[in-house]
Amino acid sequence: MIDSPFVFILFVYGLAFGSFLNVLADRLSMEQTIGGRSHCDYCKKTLRWNDLIPVISYVLLKGKCRYCHKKLSVQYPLVELVTGVVFVLSWYYSPFTLPILRIFSIALSSVLLVILVADLRYQIIPDEMQVALVGIAMLMILFSGATLTGILLRLGEGILVMLPILILFLLTRGRGMGFGDVKLAFGIGVLLGVYRGGLALYIAFLTGAIVGVGLLASRRTKMKNKIAFGPFLVVGIVCLFYFQKQVFFVVDKLFLTR
Ligand SMILES: [Zn+2]
Repeated sequence: MIDSPFVFILFVYGLAFGSFLNVLADRLSMEQTIGGRSHCDYCKKTLRWNDLIPVISYVLLKGKCRYCHKKLSVQYPLVELVTGVVFVLSWYYSPFTLPILRIFSIALSSVLLVILVADLRYQIIPDEMQVALVGIAMLMILFSGATLTGILLRLGEGILVMLPILILFLLTRGRGMGFGDVKLAFGIGVLLGVYRGGLALYIAFLTGAIVGVGLLASRRTKMKNKIAFGPFLVVGIVCLFYFQKQVFFVVDKLFLTR
């Protein structure tokens, strides 16, 4: 059952945490330190607490810096709002029932969100987020009661899922895929195992192809322009982690009908 005070609290936590995810996506991509006060990107003025209230500050300031009146990126309130929603959905759609594992699900979604923003905006997948993804995956395996052998096996599955992306990376000499995608594929294998991980890759290629063709057709991009692949890998992970049942249902219908 969904009880509304709990949903509200999760959402508000998500809003506040969303500000932090914005900072992570920006600063990790530009290799800045995480610590230190937030400041305006344009006038460098240190922001006060009332400039930093999630979503509300942006709306009250009409999307402009209080000091230099330059337009602020819509990324900030957008990521905050999305994080609020993602916190609620990650809790309720988590494949786990144990509360600690549901909290790990929220952590996983947060990492995926940072990867999404960083790759879309800067075409970078920060290494810190790669490590966090593998760490969260290992914690999930541990708390699900896996043995040491189980954990080692999963690491092996990570390598198996990484292999096709690594080969593509080597064949295209890094023009098709970035090395960040190779590392992310390893994380996918550790998180999902080889079967579900392989399906996640398949969904990433499928959605990537659809969006790529769509962009070319609408002339929004040219053949030589690079489209970040990380966001499609994130889509694959979300499908297989949160909507495994639905994905398996479709796979059964497509391939196993007799
Ligand atoms: Zn400013």
